[in-house]
Amino acid sequence: MALLRPTAALEKVTDITPELLRQLEIDAILLDVDNTLAPPTEKIPYEGVQAWIDEIKSAGFAVVICSNNYHSRIRPFSDSVGLECVAMSLKPFPFGFNRAKRKLKEKPKSVLVVGDQIYTDVLGANLAGMKSILLCPQSEEHGFTIYVRRRLEIGVRKKLKILKRGEDYVGS
Ligand SMILES: [Mg+2]
Repeated sequence: MALLRPTAALEKVTDITPELLRQLEIDAILLDVDNTLAPPTEKIPYEGVQAWIDEIKSAGFAVVICSNNYHSRIRPFSDSVGLECVAMSLKPFPFGFNRAKRKLKEKPKSVLVVGDQIYTDVLGANLAGMKSILLCPQSEEHGFTIYVRRRLEIGVRKKLKILKRGEDYVGS
């Protein structure tokens, strides 16, 4: 269970504040895209996301997009929100996280992975020795593999008391 436990859980990405990042001693953030920054396949981010990215960057945190989705989806999206990206990152394996870290100007001391899935984002962060914030998926989802992963997540979210509202859970 420890490998599936996020450092913290919140409802949506815009709930992550510079204060929380400082409290967690984070200096770089690796961001998921689908269901985290934007609806899957949509070009426009969720409301408030662009302002949040700008705020986090100007507060001094390094931010790179790290997604398992294809280049053709992730590159144009990253360009539009003004971030560098790694696509096809193969989370939960560490390859994409390592590629993302190499894109940072300075070597980070503490990296935070942010995403909506336990078996890719959180598990990957824990395997790589990084912190993580688990979000609630923001859009309805379709497809067999995501259905299976969400079914598997239910038990874990229940056990960790991360259900609808992330505020219920602050990890140790
Ligand atoms: Mg996602």
